[in-house]
Amino acid sequence: MGNIKENLEKVKSKLPENVELVAVSKFHPVEALQEAYDAGQRLFGENRAQELVAKAPHLPNDIRWHFLGHLQKNKVRAIMPYVSVIESVDSISLLKLIEEEAARIDRTVDVLLQLHVAQEETKSGFSIEEVLEAGESGELTCYPHIHVCGVMAMASLTDDMEQVAREFDLVRRTYLTLKDGPFDESEDFNHLSMGMSDDWQVAVKYGATLVRIGTAIFGAREY
Ligand SMILES: *Cc1c(COP(=O)(O)O)cnc(C)c1O
Repeated sequence: MGNIKENLEKVKSKLPENVELVAVSKFHPVEALQEAYDAGQRLFGENRAQELVAKAPHLPNDIRWHFLGHLQKNKVRAIMPYVSVIESVDSISLLKLIEEEAARIDRTVDVLLQLHVAQEETKSGFSIEEVLEAGESGELTCYPHIHVCGVMAMASLTDDMEQVAREFDLVRRTYLTLKDGPFDESEDFNHLSMGMSDDWQVAVKYGATLVRIGTAIFGAREY
């Protein structure tokens, strides 16, 4: 497992103060998360609904959970009691469903809009055109139980850091277009979640306010 506390401290010492760290704990056991918690970490990210629901009750309840994976419609209700931010909203129909579920239990939910900028087709998210169009048409800003807090994206899986930089730059520019456009009245739309273990330093240069780091803290995942 390595030394989680040391890894955490190493990452945090390099992060600018205004950037928050999401410790991505998917595929790691509750004990590993507890170790990170004991070292002061309170913000964790999971990408599978069943795993979040299985782990969360065994951990302290001041943890904030970010959901990062493709969210199946029939899993929205299950994660609602735990999740503080759903970072991976990738369709209008998912927004509508989250609104319904949040209204049903009378809470509000923070979400980020996931943008698809990577080369891999398997990654999900709104295309840039799609999200700008949805913004124009008002479909991103009509949910009383949802705070849209910004955007999230993953860069291509590549060693070409110039490619990665171009993608993060596109995400940043799209974020700013939305912020000055459909979200110009919003007090919530302030977050740019991008950067993982291998590319977070690039993401920070392009204005990331949240980085999502798993491997560099918890070690390699065993799938
Ligand atoms: C797994 C995952 C991460 C963390 O990746 P690492 O390379 O292990 O740091 C970040 N974001 C999302 C959406 C993920 O699914």
